[in-house]
Amino acid sequence: MTVAWQVGSAALFGAVIGSFLNVCIYRLPQRESLVRPGSQWPQCGVPIRWYDNIPVLSFLWLFGKCRRCRRAIPWRYPLVELLNALGYGWIVWRFGVSPVALMYATLWSALLVVSFIDLDHMIVPDRITVPGMAIGLAAGTFVLPQWWDSIAGLLIGGGLLYFIAWVSPLVFGKEGMGGGDIKLLAMIGAFLGWRPVLMTVLLGGIIGACMGLLLIASRKITRQDYLPFGPFLSLGAAVVMLYGQEILDWYGNLLAGGG
Ligand SMILES: [Zn+2]
Repeated sequence: MTVAWQVGSAALFGAVIGSFLNVCIYRLPQRESLVRPGSQWPQCGVPIRWYDNIPVLSFLWLFGKCRRCRRAIPWRYPLVELLNALGYGWIVWRFGVSPVALMYATLWSALLVVSFIDLDHMIVPDRITVPGMAIGLAAGTFVLPQWWDSIAGLLIGGGLLYFIAWVSPLVFGKEGMGGGDIKLLAMIGAFLGWRPVLMTVLLGGIIGACMGLLLIASRKITRQDYLPFGPFLSLGAAVVMLYGQEILDWYGNLLAGGG
């Protein structure tokens, strides 16, 4: 009962924070202030009343249409709220109400903002990743099992992508990765530590490659198109955050022949 209550409260809190993440996703690339003016309808800019600004429920209540101009509200808005609610609930379900859960929830939200901005604009915003590195270092130094794991994660995560970005034009003959992805992985490393950040690159790469092949096969994109890497790295980090230890154990068993 207490667990259900904690998970429910975390999800509710996640939905409220998710509402603010929508503002970040919309305004950060425009270099607008995040607090002023208050929430506005996305299409017509009319201020939203508090009773129309309740995460997810308002979208349903208004049948997905702006109260003023009746234009459709992008499904993106309730989706971000739902994903953040899901993340917070899942994290608390796995790790309880704990410092590590707070740290993971922070990373979860940062990854959501980065992913949607990267999908829209093909950029990974420094205004998330640079403060994210500092917060990850400050939190990880205390929360991770070894105090040096956070700084090692930052250096190895950032360094590895830096190396791949340097090497890939030599190998593949075109630009592989941007500086934004390097800072994103450095931030993930600062939050999770050096072992999980390596798993993140591996998983993100596999997911990205599968997705790319699928999209090419279904003729949604061609081989010349650029696929943003940020969402795949984020997805990899989310899986590692929630089930990294299980994956390591399973892999260890596999190597030991225990199946
Ligand atoms: Zn409107």
